[in-house]
Amino acid sequence: GSTIGILGGGQLGRMLAMAAARLDYRCHIYDPADAPPAGQVVPDVTCGAWTDIAALERFARAVDLVTFEFENVPAEALDAIEAIVPVRPGRRALSVSQDRIDEKDFLTGIGLTTAPYARIDDLPMLEAALGVIGTPSILKTRRMGYDGKGQMRIDRPDQAKRALELLDHQPAVLEGFVDFEREISVIGARGADGQTVCFDPGENMHRDGILRRTLVPAEIPEALKLDAVLLTGRILNALDYVGVMGVELFVTDRGLVVNEIAPRVHNSGHWTQNGCAIDQFEQHIRAITGMPLGDGSRFANVEMINLIGEDLNGLEQYLQDAIHLYGKADIRDGRKMGHVNRVRPLG
Ligand code: ATP
Ligand code: MG
Ligand code: MG
Repeated sequence: GSTIGILGGGQLGRMLAMAAARLDYRCHIYDPADAPPAGQVVPDVTCGAWTDIAALERFARAVDLVTFEFENVPAEALDAIEAIVPVRPGRRALSVSQDRIDEKDFLTGIGLTTAPYARIDDLPMLEAALGVIGTPSILKTRRMGYDGKGQMRIDRPDQAKRALELLDHQPAVLEGFVDFEREISVIGARGADGQTVCFDPGENMHRDGILRRTLVPAEIPEALKLDAVLLTGRILNALDYVGVMGVELFVTDRGLVVNEIAPRVHNSGHWTQNGCAIDQFEQHIRAITGMPLGDGSRFANVEMINLIGEDLNGLEQYLQDAIHLYGKADIRDGRKMGHVNRVRPLG
């Protein structure tokens, strides 16, 4: 079979490589760390910086196609790779999701609802935006944020200056606080031929900005599940997307509000490993290699529980569940060490 290059060797890259191996694809990982989690399950690992164009070109020449698990690969790195091999999903999805303003402009541009938002470059812009959007609101860096990092909640206008300081005056977006009932997400997949498959929406619970649990089925009306899946299809089509995407949504009394999109396999889709015949990782490999997509239907109820930091030392309580560990040697606060899937019969 051919060789898939994966940019990023974290747990997502590791689980993508495991799925690829089942389909007889070889994987080659590129990561700045010298012993990334995916390196334990893949024969070929290149350790290089995202700015090392020569190393990226060597990597690209050694593979037949490139995908990514890390969504902040710099544009110059992708230019170099794309001159040599195809990258899937494509540039548009990546650039849209790398910048929270571009992302919201794109989403509202295709008729979807986001939180009210404003571009913030300095204090006068923030004060003006607070006058329109009001409080509570959330100031987020436009780029590079994950797990709630790079975000400051603003409860009163006089906190504006401090919030900008705490974000090091990086370009930012101010978002109105969405008074949501629940958070859900849809994991969707689109093939090169436009075939689209979505997994059942899951309900997500966060603590300290980090996903803790995902429950399927989400306890929302069937009509809302259909809305969620249809809007995911709209996003996938508009980006001419190839691969798996995670779409994070707020459920409000006025319908669904899109929080953000992730152009990759997604933590809230890990339940599919034990709830579906074909999980999100295999679905992504199928999509990018041009194989037919699998049936995404769910045959069980699943609770996915993330193992964060010291949670790893409490594995005894999960011995009846499907355990997925990431091979990370050192436990750190807030670090995703693994997850478990608690599987129950449908009903
Ligand atoms: P990740 O990429 O790891 O999902 P992130 O750092 O990109 O996280 P967000 O998804 O923007 O962060 O926000 C993290 C969580 O904070 C959300 O899942 C939600 O619980 C809360 N949150 C973010 N934005 C808003 C908002 N505008 N209104 C209400 N809650 C919000
Ligand atoms: Mg995010
Ligand atoms: Mg998020």
